[in-house]
Parts: sequence; C-alpha cells; structure tokens
Amino acid sequence: MYTWRLFQPSSLHWAWSTAALKHTLGRQQGAFRWTHSGGHSYRAVIFDMGGVLVPSPGTVAAQWEVQNHVPSGTILKALIRDGDSGPWMRFMRGEMTTEGFLEEFGRLYSEIVVESCLEGICKPDPRIFQLCLQRLNLQPSETIFLDDLGPNLKAAASLGIHTIKVANPETAVKELEALLGFPLRVGVPNTRPVRKTMEIPEDALEKYLKGLLGTHYSGPMELLQFDHGQSNPTYYIRLGNRQLVLRKKPPGPLLPSAHAIEREFRVMKALGNAGVPVPTVLDLCEDPSVIGTPFYLMEYCPGIIYKDPSLPGLEPSQRQAIYNAMNQVLCRIHSVDLQAGGLESFGKPGDYIPRQVKTWTKQYRAAETSTIPAMERLIQWLPLHLPRQQRTTVVHGDFRLDNLIFHPEKAEVLAVLDWELSTLGDPFADVAYSCLAHYLPSSFPMLRGFRDQDVTELGIPTAEEYFRKYCLRMDLPPIDNWSFYMAFSFFRVAAILQGVYKRSLTGQASSATAEQSGKLTESMAELAWDFATKEGFRVFKATPSAKPLMGSYHSWAGQSSPRTTSGVRHYSSVAAAAPSHEAKGGLIISPEGLSPRVRKLYDQLLRFMELNVYPAEEELQRHQASADRWRPSPLIEELKEKAKAEGLWNLFLPLETDPEKKYGAGLTNLEYAHLCEVMGMCFYAPEIFNCSAPDTGNMEILLQYGTEEQKARWLVPLLEGRIRSCFAMTEPQVASSDASNIEASIREEDGCYVINGHKWWSSGILDPRCKLCVFMGKTDPQAQRHQQQSMLLVPMDTPGIKVIRPLSVFGLEDPPGGHGEAQFKDVRVPKENILVGPGRGFEIAQGRLGPGRIHHCMRLIGYAERALSLLKTRAMSRTTFGKPLIEHGTIMADIAQSRVDIEQARLLVLKAAHLMDVAGNKAAALEIAMIKMVAPSMACRVIDRAIQAFGGAGLSSNYPLAQFYAWARALRIADGPDEVHQLTVARRELKNRARLQEPAAPRE
Ligand SMILES: Cc1cc2nc3c(=O)[nH]c(=O)nc-3n(C[C@H](O)[C@H](O)[C@H](O)COP(=O)(O)OP(=O)(O)OC[C@H]3O[C@@H](n4cnc5c(N)ncnc54)[C@H](O)[C@@H]3O)c2cc1C
Repeated sequence: MYTWRLFQPSSLHWAWSTAALKHTLGRQQGAFRWTHSGGHSYRAVIFDMGGVLVPSPGTVAAQWEVQNHVPSGTILKALIRDGDSGPWMRFMRGEMTTEGFLEEFGRLYSEIVVESCLEGICKPDPRIFQLCLQRLNLQPSETIFLDDLGPNLKAAASLGIHTIKVANPETAVKELEALLGFPLRVGVPNTRPVRKTMEIPEDALEKYLKGLLGTHYSGPMELLQFDHGQSNPTYYIRLGNRQLVLRKKPPGPLLPSAHAIEREFRVMKALGNAGVPVPTVLDLCEDPSVIGTPFYLMEYCPGIIYKDPSLPGLEPSQRQAIYNAMNQVLCRIHSVDLQAGGLESFGKPGDYIPRQVKTWTKQYRAAETSTIPAMERLIQWLPLHLPRQQRTTVVHGDFRLDNLIFHPEKAEVLAVLDWELSTLGDPFADVAYSCLAHYLPSSFPMLRGFRDQDVTELGIPTAEEYFRKYCLRMDLPPIDNWSFYMAFSFFRVAAILQGVYKRSLTGQASSATAEQSGKLTESMAELAWDFATKEGFRVFKATPSAKPLMGSYHSWAGQSSPRTTSGVRHYSSVAAAAPSHEAKGGLIISPEGLSPRVRKLYDQLLRFMELNVYPAEEELQRHQASADRWRPSPLIEELKEKAKAEGLWNLFLPLETDPEKKYGAGLTNLEYAHLCEVMGMCFYAPEIFNCSAPDTGNMEILLQYGTEEQKARWLVPLLEGRIRSCFAMTEPQVASSDASNIEASIREEDGCYVINGHKWWSSGILDPRCKLCVFMGKTDPQAQRHQQQSMLLVPMDTPGIKVIRPLSVFGLEDPPGGHGEAQFKDVRVPKENILVGPGRGFEIAQGRLGPGRIHHCMRLIGYAERALSLLKTRAMSRTTFGKPLIEHGTIMADIAQSRVDIEQARLLVLKAAHLMDVAGNKAAALEIAMIKMVAPSMACRVIDRAIQAFGGAGLSSNYPLAQFYAWARALRIADGPDEVHQLTVARRELKNRARLQEPAAPRE
C-alpha cells in the first residue's frame, strides 16, 4: 500500500543548497568592511545572502510550486510546521548539515511504502491504516484513502480517514482534485504560459489558422510556450481537436544568418519523406505581417522528452536502450540520400568544420561582451588543427537527447526536433555533440550532464563506446581525432551561449535562463580547451619517432641573432647554426643533426619562446616582486595551457624510462639536451613546459620506482601540471652534501610511518600547488651506511608539517615555490607511501639524479648563451673613451673566452647525455660528474663577463643577468657542491688504470 505526500524533496535540492550557502556564507561574510575615500561615513554594508547574492530559497520553492501545480505556500508551511524544533530551524541554527537537513526533510516529506507482506497485516485490518498514520505522523482527518473495494474503504473510514471509492480512475482523480483544491493532471508537458516578451497576436494567428485548417475549427484557441526553443521561440496551439506547434523567429534585430526557420521547414519536410522521424510539417508563413515574424507550423507529437540525460528513474537496461535509439536515429539522419531527398543544395559540400569555425568565431565576435582567454586560444588553435572531412551528410547541428521525442512505453525516437542549425557537413560533428552531457556536471544549469556519475552503473555508454557504436553502425573505421570534434563542439556551445547572453541583455532571448549563459560561456570554453590540449598531445605522440643515434657533427659557433622585445631589451635567442656536415656517428652536436621530428619540435620551441615566453618575461619578473608573489602567476598558467596544446609538454622524460612514450615526448637525453638549452634561456621557461625541477626529478622517481597506485595519485597530476612537488633531503644541522649524514627519522608504528626531522632548502615547498613532498629519512640507523635511508611520499596536507620560513639566494626568494625550511613533527603516513621499500632511499637518490642530474647543466648552457648574446649587443651599442666598447681588446677577449667556455661545456654536456643514452646512467657517471663540476662555474664566468660589460645595469633587474648569475652560483652548491663532483672525477681518474702508464718514480 502506498501513501504519498504532495511533493518530492529531491526536486527542491537546489533550493536547500542555496539556503545552505546562505547559511554558511552568512556566518562568515554577511557583513563586509572596507576603507574608502568617498566622503561618506559608511563603514559596512549588511545584507542577506539569499535573495541578494544567491536566489532566495523561497523564490525557488514558489517557482517549483507554480510549475508543479502545487498550491502556493505548501513548501513554506511544511518548513515551519515544527517551529523551533523542526529540521529547518535546526539547520538554520547550524545544528544540522545540509545533508542532514535534506535527509530529515526527505524522510518527513517523501513517499512511504507500507507493505502488507513485510508487516504481517493486511487490509481490511484497520491496524494497517494505523501503521500508515503512525509512519506519516499524521491524524486520520489529515489523510485520504483511495481503493476500489468497499471493506477496505469501510475500515479506513472507521478510523476517520476520508475515503474515495475508485470505480472509474478519471472520476476518482477529479474527486481527489476537488478535495485537495488544486489540479493533479498537468497540461501539455514542458509548456508554460507565454512569456511577456514573447507574446504573439492571438487573434491574427487564430484567423490565419482557421484559414489554413478550415473555418469549422471553433472554440477558444489555447496558446502556450514551450520551455524548449532557446533560440527560435516555440508555441503549443490547441484549436478544436487539432494540436499544433508553431516555431518562429525571435523578434528584434538578429545576428546574421541565424534563426533561418525557412531552412528548418525545408529540411524537416525532406527528412520526413526520407523516413527520418520528424514532426509532420504543415505550413510555412514567410509573411512577417501575420504575427510579426515568419513562422512555420507542424503537428504536435505527444511523447516523452528526457530533459535529464542521466535518465533518472529508469533501469540501466532502459537507459542503454534509449541511448542506443538515439545513436540509431543519428545514423539514420546521416544516411539520407541527399540527391533523392532534394537536399544537395541544402549546404556547401566539404569544408564544413573550417566554415563552422569561421561562422561561430564571427557569431561569437558579434556577441562578445568581454575577452575570454580560452575563447581567444581556441580561435587561434582550431583553424590550425582542422580534420580532413571524410563524408558529407545532413548534419543536425544540435543533436542531443532533449531534442528527441521518445515513445512513452518503448525506446523509440518518435521525432527529432530543433533543426535550426542543420546543414550539410561532417557527420562526426553531430556524434561529438551528442556526447556533450558526458562531460558536463549534473549541476550545469542549461545543459545538464552526468560527468559526476558512473555511466557504467547507469547503463549509459561512455562517449568512446557511443562513438565506436556509431562507426560500427555506419560501417566506418573508428576515428582517433575525436578530441578535436569535442573541442569544436564545446567551442560552438560557448559561442551559442554568448549569443543567448547578448540577446538576454537586449531582452530578445526566449528562455528565462538566458541571463545565466554569460557566465557559462567561459566554462564551456575551458572545457573545449581541455579537449584541444588532449588533441595536441595525441597529434604530437603520433608523429613518427626519431632514430636516436643518427646525427651530424659540426660546429655550433654561428652568428648569434639578437631579438628585440618591447623596445628596451635586446635579448638574443639561440645562435644560428652552421650548415650541416656529413653524418659521422651518434653524437648530435647541433640542432641540425636532430631527426626531422625532433628538429620540428626544436623549431616549434624556439618559436614558442619568441612569441610567448620572452614577451612575458618582464611581467613574470614583476609578479615575482609583487605582494602576490607567493601565488602562482596566472600568466604562467595560461602559457602552460598553450604549451600543452602545442605538445611542448613533459619533454624531459627520457625514452629509456618511458619507452612507450606513455607519459612524455619520448626524446633521448641527447635530443632533450638541445631543447633544454633553449628553455634555459629564460628563467621562467622550464615551468611553462612542465620541465622544471624539482618536479622533473620527482616524476622520474615515480615513474621508475612508484607503484601503479602511487603513479595514479601523484605522477598523473604532476605530468598534467595540476600539482607541484618538493624534495626534502638537506638538513640544517648536518653536512648534507654527504647524504649519509642526514638524521630525520622514519619510524614504523601501528601500520604507519612516523616522520620526525628538520629540513631546509626544500625547493618548491612554499608553492600552494605543492601537494607532494618526497622525503628522505632514516628507517634503520644501525644498517649499513647506504641502507639506512628510505624515501616516503608525504602528502603536504598531512598534519605535523610546518614550513618555518622561505630562504633566499642573494636576497632572491624564488617565489611562489621558494626554498623552504620545514619542521616535520610526528607526521604519519600510511606504509604504502614508501618508495620501493625500507633502506632503498640511497639507491633511489642516485636514480633521481639520473637524467635529471644534467638538466641543470643543459639549462646553464642556455643561461650562458643568452648572457653572451646580451654582452655582444650591448658592447656594439655603447662607446667609451672614443670607440665602441666592442673594439676594446678586453671585451674582445671576454667574447672569445666565453664562446670557447660555452662550446667546451656544451660538448661535455652532450657527451654525457649521449653516453647516458647509449651506455646507461651508470656508465656515464664520470661524464655526469665532470659536467656538474664544469657547467655552473662556466656559466658563472660567462654571465659575470656580461654583467661587467653592462656596468651597473648588469646588476639590476632590468636584464636577466643578475638573476642568471645568482642561480648559476647557487648551482655550484645546490646540485651537490663542486668539490663532491671533483672528488668523484678524481677517484674515477685514479681508478682508471689504463691512464696510469707513466711511472711515478723519477728517471735515473
Ligand atoms: C638554491 C638551492 C636549492 C636547493 N634545493 C634543494 C632541494 O630541493 N632539496 C634538498 O634536499 N636540498 C636542496 N638544496 C640543498 C643542497 O643540496 C645542499 O646545500 C648541498 O647538497 C650541500 O649541502 P650543505 O648545504 O649541507 O653543505 P655542506 O654539506 O655542509 O657542505 C658545505 C661545503 O663543504 C665543502 N665540502 C663538502 N664536501 C666536500 C668534500 N668532499 N671535499 C671538499 N670540500 C667539501 C663544500 O665547499 C661545500 O659547499 C638546495 C640548495 C640551494 C642553494
């Protein structure tokens, strides 16, 4: 037996969430204070959040009541019914959470099922009615009981319950409506009274209809407006026994070529004849004098429109069937014979996507109200990544679930609606567009989605499955560039929403939610950009890989090419290379020797630096000196997205660690050395390409030593550039250049590791994006010297971590990551956070310093190249003591010496990288140590000469020289002090018996 209440609380969730927002924010922010200079004495503004900043829950509830024909005030009454002790007041006083409130309210005001078989009592036993009353917590006089059997009704009536005998359901519902005082049967679904700004002259319309259908249609005409039809207002008409739908252009000035309802009429007519389920069209009236704008008429098609694409209330198998039917009908549209249907001239054949990109860019520009960065990026990106159109078919242009009318009892599409955007084009655009809901959250106001739900559990095919199924049905090979189509789809939605928003500002938009669309444009553009990024990755990875050992020998010492930025600075980029020589072997000593794929990447990187990085340098430097410096620079974030979309991302991951190129670009160390040098030319560049320390080293560790779970949790977000990380080894109280000295303890306790220790110089630890600390400590101080240490993955939000202060290098704090001093006190992490196992820390530390060990050296060559380039341009442009600086012998000597220094160091870097590639990191240990010994001091010397040539300016922040110098100098310590590397080189040299041929004893 069912008893029910007048409304379901789930529909009101939003209203309560709003109230909850009001409640929480109200406590913290209800009143603001600020200073001002307007001459008034106001010091604060106090306001209620609900109804001011967010819609009032009362308004939302009232709207819901109107839409659902529930007497106005019902919800409010229910809310305040139990006064101070009721859930509402407890919720408002903060004694209940939103979830708790919704649960209790739901329990009080939702369906209650009383099942005889479970209770052991059955009608007409009056105890079952008593049980219902008890569960509802109501009096008999407050309830109504419906049944078709007299004894049951009698038993209920004996308790004082009002009863209705159901002989005919229709009559019983009428009787119930009379008792309740409001109608239970809603009218035409998805309609409402015509909106004020959308009214049409009813008399003129009625006259026209009677002329069309015959004057015998009498009685008042009923006119309602569909909620649907954001762009072309759509109306329901009942005239006599005819039910029609009218669709018209919106009033007022319109965007060029939009709202072409004549085309809709034409295509629907043709498709209907070709067997595609569409409403039967009756008449097109192009005369604007009848109702103010042209319109057309079609038969009303009763059925179900599923507005929520997650299909609540259906079984998984039903959902699957619905999506299957949707896919099927799309295939049907795309299979229509254009010639037979007379649709050959319905659009231009070919080049659909390029035209669409142009059209929507134009539409967007025409409706633009402010600059949206993601839209700007897309407008640049889309034309450069256009797919080749495989087929030309009718495309719907707005194919989504809520544009389909379904049979009420089976998964069959009765009609496809809204053909406004249809034309001839690339059918994959429709397929992608019909998957929008997969990527939108359920809370998205205008286009509801189910991104936050488990599609497999729901029974809905994933977007990939949906695509595959389509291809299978159409007998097409599956496409791999569908991320492009998704990017394009979301771009188009963003442009449409912007149009709706602009029209809402001028009062022409036909939907009440039009105003919201302005804010949504931005989020759609962001989503589109996510797909553009994915596509960028895919294209990049699909490019054929290099043969690592092919290359050429030649000199690097070409003429440098000074570049000019905003009039003040003259920074040179990489020196132009000499012509290529015959390939002699595996060591590629100049970019000309790189394989075509890597060379292309190299050129792309140079271009990206020229177009995006150098011009941003000044602003990035300003950010680092501003009060906001401990927050990540939005410009860096923007440039990261750009670099990602161009595939200039994670270039550092060596092919040997990531042979399947699953995570990175699959470059060899040698290839990366050339690219890394370019990144070194600007201090800020490595982060833009997700190639900066200490993340690179930590990512290498995770890839080499992490478990699948550790990779999923840390490596993936690091590779995506969503989080950052730090490495905590060095300790203030011990000489940490000898890592065996470190004292931090890692103790096992109750299935956890407990950390205690004091660290400093942990680079990146102050960055708010830093979520992971790779921590080195001792698990067993009694073990052998190199087996005492372990490495743990410590989430930065673990209690007990206290960052004490940022350290500075020559006064430079290097924000937002900084270099921090931190205390770790009783920090507990799960045992599974250990890397490889206890006692393996030293081994991992060695591994960590594998490829990552020479990245700094590669970058230092970049620092030095740029410094030399600056020196030359400066020396050519200034005169002292009667001649240009460049002609002074000491300057000439400095230039010559710098070139030689750079060439020597570069050759050694490339040799080390090459050996790592061909012989392995261990075999390259000597070369690694040598270059670490050489590169920082070489860079210091070259930069120092440049600073000297610049005079005072060289020490200022007007040029990157002082910053370069500070970091080059720091790297003589930070990457292990010079002396430690010298020790390694000396020891190896002494071990190399082959080089000890000369007897040490003096000759007789
Ligand atoms: C900018 C910067 C960033 C850093 N980032 C990190 C980081 O992210 N994580 C981290 O854990 N650490 C980091 N460090 C710390 C760095 O690794 C250490 O400073 C370095 O290993 C030296 O250790 P120490 O400071 O304890 O010096 P000590 O070990 O006390 O050495 C001091 C000096 O002793 C001399 N010396 C040492 N050994 C020998 C020898 N065998 N022969 C002759 N002389 C010797 C050297 O001149 C050396 O400079 C960073 C440091 C800097 C400056």
